[in-house]
Amino acid sequence: MSFLTRFAPSPTGRLHLGHAFSALTAYRAAEEAGGRFIVRIEDIDRTRCRPEFETGLLDDLAWLGLTWEEPVRRQSDHFDAYASALSRLYDLGVLYRCFRTRREIAEQSAGAPQEADAPDEAEAPPSQTFVQGSGNKIDDNHRNRPSEETPFAWRLSINNSQRLLGEEFARLEFVSEDVGPKPERRIIRVRPDLLSDVILGRKDTPASYHLAVVHDDALQEVSHVVRGDDLLSSTHVHVLLQRLLGLPTPIYRHHRLLTDEDGKRYAKRNRSLTLAALRADGVTPTEIRRRIGIDQ
Ligand code: GLU
Repeated sequence: MSFLTRFAPSPTGRLHLGHAFSALTAYRAAEEAGGRFIVRIEDIDRTRCRPEFETGLLDDLAWLGLTWEEPVRRQSDHFDAYASALSRLYDLGVLYRCFRTRREIAEQSAGAPQEADAPDEAEAPPSQTFVQGSGNKIDDNHRNRPSEETPFAWRLSINNSQRLLGEEFARLEFVSEDVGPKPERRIIRVRPDLLSDVILGRKDTPASYHLAVVHDDALQEVSHVVRGDDLLSSTHVHVLLQRLLGLPTPIYRHHRLLTDEDGKRYAKRNRSLTLAALRADGVTPTEIRRRIGIDQ
């Protein structure tokens, strides 16, 4: 199998040291395997992504010394492809419309374990509603009768997926490798407790992080997904989605998250630690690598 990995940032702010660590970890994995490295712009959230952040992050990656294959795929150019994947899932009967607001879902899930997940997409615990066959009915997840204008999210029904896949559901698994030159492999069973009725689209946007990432990793023939372990619970959902959509499951390498001096993970709110700010202070790419423990 030829090795291809990717770094897939969302242009919602400038890159920080945590991103640099993730990008360099993936890049080094490709180098060690004699494989290929691509960058993908995950910008389906049209309210938060901005072109200047996209330009800025590509500039930061080049400054760090990374090179990647062109053209760079920009997800916002491919809504049609995600709409087809969404309608395929609809035809399978594993989607339902959810009219609850983020706040209502958060209240309902309060107390339930919340794994870190895809950026800003509120999770819903598995719906109890089973929709027979492929006919999608509005489920119980609305308070009042929704009007035509009421916004909604398309959610994946874990229950329906389980019914559809039967015994195979319990056998879903993926290969996980350690990060490093001689990665050890493990087979991980998909854990039902890490699955939730994630959002796969919205009334006006036929895509979400989960749908687009699964679609694109397959389309771009990504053999190894190298990303932070904050996305581990998402991987369990992604393996289910791959099975439902008939797509291959790549090998996953989840790396540890880089933390600051206080032990907190880097976030876009730590403005002073953006690569742009560090560059402006005269910090060199070599110093960045040393600081995040990726010496080369
Ligand atoms: N776009 C996601 C992020 O910026 C990363 C997705 C992935 O690596 O699968 O957090």
